[in-house]
Amino acid sequence: MSDLGELYQELIVDHSRRPRNFKAIQDATAKAEGFNPLCGDRVTVYLKMDGDVIREVSFEGSGCAISTASASLLTETLKGKTLAEAETIFDGFHKLVTGVAKGIGPEETKLGKLAVFKGVCDYPTRVKCATLVWHTLRSALKGDRQPASTE
Ligand code: ZN
Repeated sequence: MSDLGELYQELIVDHSRRPRNFKAIQDATAKAEGFNPLCGDRVTVYLKMDGDVIREVSFEGSGCAISTASASLLTETLKGKTLAEAETIFDGFHKLVTGVAKGIGPEETKLGKLAVFKGVCDYPTRVKCATLVWHTLRSALKGDRQPASTE
């Protein structure tokens, strides 16, 4: 279990137990649902855009600690960011959790708190838990009507 200790870092545990921005946005400008059949994680992402800027972002749903913490940290990270900035962060996050960025310091520092998910790359089945909310966010931004799925 000592290896899992690194995966379930304090910040991840904290955000999974007390998720931030865990609510619906009534006047959301975009929303999407996502599902990770591998683990059973479900998430709904709400967005309130102001032109190109993410004014508000929130989520609801139920899932494992990793998926909930990832969604919570996404909402904290993306509030006030532009779409282009969000894409760059997603790209870096995806590289981090899939192990592409392994051993590359700067990738992590640019991600801020999201860098706590670097342990996920050692647990391939957990990668989808961590990225579900990001795929769902993309669906919301694209206006997809079909629920996002990690499969
Ligand atoms: Zn999960």
